[in-house]
Amino acid sequence: MTTIGKATLQSDNEGLVTLQCDRCKSRFKMDCAYLNELDRDIFCPICGISESLNTFWPEEVVEEAAKVAMMEAEKMIAEAFKGFKSKHIKVKTSPVHQVDSQLTFKNKDYDMQSIKVVCCDKSIGLNPIDYTLGFYCPYCGRMVR
Ligand SMILES: [Zn+2]
Ligand SMILES: [Zn+2]
Repeated sequence: MTTIGKATLQSDNEGLVTLQCDRCKSRFKMDCAYLNELDRDIFCPICGISESLNTFWPEEVVEEAAKVAMMEAEKMIAEAFKGFKSKHIKVKTSPVHQVDSQLTFKNKDYDMQSIKVVCCDKSIGLNPIDYTLGFYCPYCGRMVR
């Protein structure tokens, strides 16, 4: 599993986790254990641009994480106004929904092809079309084919 803030990305049974490039929106998979110890940028296998891992979260994960952040902010504001009374200001606090702030994302994209990149001796997952067109190693940025 790989964790961002409160969201957890579940890896597939090969230990790969799905990521998405913020620029070209391509999805691919990388080694989960590697990502957890990552101290450098990774490369998009399709456009070859290196970026920090936090720009590679799949869009549904980013959306959900943003929702939770919003709800938590609302909750904090509601808490802050609780018991706040003034003859000039009236604040009505609406009931706060309970938020499940632990998000776990099951691994999808099972149609991806699992490939071993020889340069880094690690596995990746790619859509068959991206594999056919050629790609970069997401670990070191080298052109694989
Ligand atoms: Zn890209
Ligand atoms: Zn490599």
